Amino acid sequence: MKNFIIFGSPGAGKGTQAELLAKKYNLAHLSSGAILRNALQNGLISDNTNKYLKAGNLVPEKTIINLMTETIGRQKKNQGLIFDGFPRTLNQAEKLDEILKEKNLTISKVLEIKINEKEGTKRILERAKTSGRNDDNKKILNNRFRVYRQEMTPIKNYYRTQKKLVSIDGCRTVEEIFQNLSAEIEKNI
Ligand code: ADP
Repeated sequence: MKNFIIFGSPGAGKGTQAELLAKKYNLAHLSSGAILRNALQNGLISDNTNKYLKAGNLVPEKTIINLMTETIGRQKKNQGLIFDGFPRTLNQAEKLDEILKEKNLTISKVLEIKINEKEGTKRILERAKTSGRNDDNKKILNNRFRVYRQEMTPIKNYYRTQKKLVSIDGCRTVEEIFQNLSAEIEKNI
């Protein structure tokens, strides 16, 4: 069983592609944003956490790491995983390795979808019309990009050193990106 991370800036298409890949390769799609929003809705984490989401800042490390640890623990044995939105800091990447190691698991590949900020902004502002997400607006989005720029390099270096990072051009159609990501996954299953 293999585990993957889908990595990229806001608007890169992580969620869309992770969902398609999860279906095709029978992977559990673990979206940290969805897990957080769900935990908030169900009162599983403090309401206070919402202020980070609303501002486009990272929630505290402890909150997200505890939630992801729990979520990973709930998966069926031998279930392949695809992480989307996690890890988002070097610390999270290291913690994820520890969590997986305890279960004798590892990350096989980190699939980066690369887009420029202009395209990402365009897509998210389009999505804002239907997403209902209060962080999908221009001001908060600028902050989400700033956070991403700040955190991405150490994470990418961490996986590049382990020879696990592959990058795919995200300024293509959903179908083309899906084909390219599928090809990478197939090299690893
Ligand atoms: P996007 O990738 O488009 O920014 P997400 O749904 O992945 O959207 O994330 C939305 C928000 O959830 C982030 O701006 C942040 O506040 C919080 N969040 C998601 N994943 C993490 C994480 N791994 N660590 C800290 N905060 C996170």
